[in-house]
Amino acid sequence: MHPQKKRLAGYVTTVGIAFTLALLVGYTAIGRQVDADAYDWMFRLHPPHTDKARSAMVTIDEQTFAKLGGIRRIRAILAEALEYLASASPKVVAVDLTLVDTGDPQDDQRLEEAMRRTRCLVLAAEMSPGGKDWQDPLPRFRKWAAAVGHVHAAPDEYNGIVQQVPLEKAIGQRRYWALALEALRLSLGEQPIVESPDDLQVGGITIPAKRGDARSVYVRYLPAGLDGATSIPRVSVAQLHAEPALAKHFREKVIFVGVTAQSAARDRLMTPCSAGQPLPGVEIHANTFETLAGGRFLTRASNTSVFLVSGLLATGASLIFAFLWGWPAYTMAGVLLAVAQATPHIFFLQDIVFPYTAPIAAAWLTVVSAAGYQHLVVRRQLRLAEAEKTRYQQAVHFVTHEMRTPLTAIQGSSELMRRYPLNEEKRRQIAELIHSESRRLARMVETFLNVERLSAGQMELRREPYHPAELVKICVERAQPLAARKAIRLVLGPLPDDQIVGDRELMEYAVYNLLTNAIKYSPAETEVRISAWRRGEYLHLAVKDQGIGMDEEEVRNVFQKFYRTRSAVASGEAGTGIGLSIVEQIVTHHGGRIEVESSPGKGSCFTLVLPAPVSAGAREK
Ligand code: ADP
Repeated sequence: MHPQKKRLAGYVTTVGIAFTLALLVGYTAIGRQVDADAYDWMFRLHPPHTDKARSAMVTIDEQTFAKLGGIRRIRAILAEALEYLASASPKVVAVDLTLVDTGDPQDDQRLEEAMRRTRCLVLAAEMSPGGKDWQDPLPRFRKWAAAVGHVHAAPDEYNGIVQQVPLEKAIGQRRYWALALEALRLSLGEQPIVESPDDLQVGGITIPAKRGDARSVYVRYLPAGLDGATSIPRVSVAQLHAEPALAKHFREKVIFVGVTAQSAARDRLMTPCSAGQPLPGVEIHANTFETLAGGRFLTRASNTSVFLVSGLLATGASLIFAFLWGWPAYTMAGVLLAVAQATPHIFFLQDIVFPYTAPIAAAWLTVVSAAGYQHLVVRRQLRLAEAEKTRYQQAVHFVTHEMRTPLTAIQGSSELMRRYPLNEEKRRQIAELIHSESRRLARMVETFLNVERLSAGQMELRREPYHPAELVKICVERAQPLAARKAIRLVLGPLPDDQIVGDRELMEYAVYNLLTNAIKYSPAETEVRISAWRRGEYLHLAVKDQGIGMDEEEVRNVFQKFYRTRSAVASGEAGTGIGLSIVEQIVTHHGGRIEVESSPGKGSCFTLVLPAPVSAGAREK
């Protein structure tokens, strides 16, 4: 595949995996929990508009119990409340109290009488603890009720907060609508509830409550006061008891009656605006009613839209890092992440509950993976291209530096032959010189190219058996004229007779280079000693001089391309600083290493350590 296509495929795959992962994260328990918590947070951040409350509450609070006789007298208290209410003639009275058992006969009698006088009464039914049956109000109460509604909320599966209330609850064939829905139906003039799979219709109100979802609706709790209670007006029975005239506020309203006393209300639940204080059931019902009557519903975003929006964010992230670099890319990615963060809020303001995890995980994961891909893969490719460029530059350097000398010699000699009539002997000498210089040039080019190809991985090392002793002798012979010019003695130490395997030509280049360096960087009339010995599975080959030497720092740098020590430059010897880097590469490719010992003014010793398995050597002998 074309490298660019391959890179594109790699990029798309990486971002695609990140995107898929993000969607999956949205479906995990943690993702759901985050979504649930985010919903509560958004709910508090964007409270619903408050029209005037259509409902009110008559509460049985601590004070009521204290004044009117405690939980045992609850039916009498309820009866009293209904009596006050009857005088005000509210539209509907919904009672959030289960009246399953027979109570004190006198109290029950009084309650029944009060109910008889109540216009539109809704009573509560509750599921038995096991959820097997309905606990209906006693028939004597039931018969005065215009409707019975269930009083169950649906705490969120993941964070236990009551965000939704199921409008329908069924056990077998027996089902009840929610207390609040019954209250609404009656308040609108005993309207029927028209069902379709996706919504319910009551009067002119369409409630988007799906059958498959237990007809659940999000409750838009009216903004909370400091104590966490919502802003639905309320009067306690104790207050009514003290001032019965307060009942006049309930005219034409839908009234919810229930217990709010902390000590008695067992149905207190956390809501998004609870602020740590659970809300009594009666208040949840009243808020549900307000939500239904207000007709502005929150609906859940469809899976398709979640997928599309998250996909859009992921595409954005991948486009950013496909076309931009560095700060512009990171800035745009920051903007994208901010958009992802804002997305659920924007939807929420449009009354759509959009999950939080999926878009944000999609944005983050794709940004991180796209940026990571850009950083690791694309940068690496750039680095490779850079290395390629440096190699090319070095090649140019090499040609201009190393080759200039032999070329000048060839040029000069041929010029001589062209211009002057030379005798046969002279011509022969010059031709000899041209020949040897051009061969040197060819060898140099060959060596350089070979090393380049080796390090680019384009060439295999040649593996031929050869005798290092012979190789050393050849190099010494070649270097002899150079040494002679400076009256340097080339001393051959003991050389083992082993045969080793490797690229003979490259190895010769390496040894010759060490030898000429030793001669170049030594004063006249000194000694250069070449010796070799075997240690275990390695052959050591050392070139030791009594030359200018190097300090530690210089020894560390000496294998870098084009590095020359200050004293070497000062010595006036021609050089490029590339030879040793080639030597090191050659030795490394052979699986060996090069060691240097040196001290300034005293001399240096370069040792090649080459693998030389005993068995191979023995076999060759
Ligand atoms: P060149 O000899 O062309 O400068 P090399 O790569 O062979 O390049 O050597 C790099 C540098 O290492 C030399 O310039 C010199 O400073 C130092 N060097 C190499 N061999 C010796 C030596 N035997 N003694 C002192 N310095 C040396």
